[in-house]
Amino acid sequence: MASEHIENSKEFENLSVNEGVKEVKIINENSVNRFKKLRQHKLTIDELFNGILKGHIPSLSRAITLVESQNRKHQKLAEEIIRKCLPFSGNSKRIGITGVPGVGKSTFIEAIGLKIVESGKKLAVLAIDPSSEKSKGSILGDKTRMENLVKSEKAFVRPSPSSGSLGGVARKTRESIILCETAGFDTIFIETVGVGQSETAVHSMSDFFLLLMLAGAGDELQGIKRGIMEMADTIAITKADGDNKTKAKAAETEYKNALHLFPPSDNDWITQVLSCSAYTDYGIDDLWTIIEDFFVKGRENNSIHHKRMIQAKYWMHESIKDKLLSDLYQSEETKHLIEQYENKVLNNQISPFNAADEIFLKYKG
Ligand code: GDP
Repeated sequence: MASEHIENSKEFENLSVNEGVKEVKIINENSVNRFKKLRQHKLTIDELFNGILKGHIPSLSRAITLVESQNRKHQKLAEEIIRKCLPFSGNSKRIGITGVPGVGKSTFIEAIGLKIVESGKKLAVLAIDPSSEKSKGSILGDKTRMENLVKSEKAFVRPSPSSGSLGGVARKTRESIILCETAGFDTIFIETVGVGQSETAVHSMSDFFLLLMLAGAGDELQGIKRGIMEMADTIAITKADGDNKTKAKAAETEYKNALHLFPPSDNDWITQVLSCSAYTDYGIDDLWTIIEDFFVKGRENNSIHHKRMIQAKYWMHESIKDKLLSDLYQSEETKHLIEQYENKVLNNQISPFNAADEIFLKYKG
């Protein structure tokens, strides 16, 4: 009741309460402006690089933003930073993780990620999300993900770069790996959605490739491309808890049998299959033991180094192809030429293959 409030008693009758102010007056404008300036201050390449080397997260984030930028000037700066970081990179476990939306990727990454950071390691989570280009929203970024992991000082979670072709996005993620490694992240997860070509891109930048699968109702092998299973170093059946545990175990046996039919890998590694649950923690430690074992063996027999060499060459060739394509299609001259040939092809004046030959000859000049 109002009358019970002490301010309303007679004793305090001269008291009046002011209305709240909408905006607090800036008391010390100078210091606010100084802070603004500091934020706007463009760090030099060396400042950024030194920051990254010290594991300074704002410097790392800024450098990744430069890597992701479409602006030519930013790209030039990013190139310089990458060049400086390269000698300091490479010392991490690069782990690719894929699976269809809903399989439990983010829940799994949070569960295993928390264990990784608790053990004293530094974990960066990067992503390649092919949906973000088309839909502007993204499958991987449309919800608050990994809420606990992002709070850890030892974790760095970065959503997928959202613009450009898959090749372009993949390149940005690959360069971000280099930056994260320079910043001291010893474990890197590269996550993608199992709905397109992005698995190949992620596979081509990871040492270890983990495929997460749901236990289906007897049709386990449907809907998943054989090629992706062949790429996997380990298949984990998720959500093996409650009533689903038996189904997960059955799926596990089925995948183990299916994998026998695949050719052996060239790195002496036998693809492992297990069930796990991010809810109950079942199988999570076992999975991490498998991953560590993979890295011990892969470093012993040099297969990880070998794989990285192949990947480096692959990305160089991919980049040449990207450059050639964009050079061919973006120059005004060839645009015009291509239009002319399109018409000729449509009018049956020339076959599509001959048209391509002629365009290419003229392009080469
Ligand atoms: P993502 O789309 O692959 O990242 O999948 P999410 O991690 O967002 O998980 C999709 C749904 O599955 C969510 O509703 C989760 O709560 C649920 N889920 C994730 N992991 C588990 C698990 O280990 N057990 C069970 N029962 N549900 C899970």
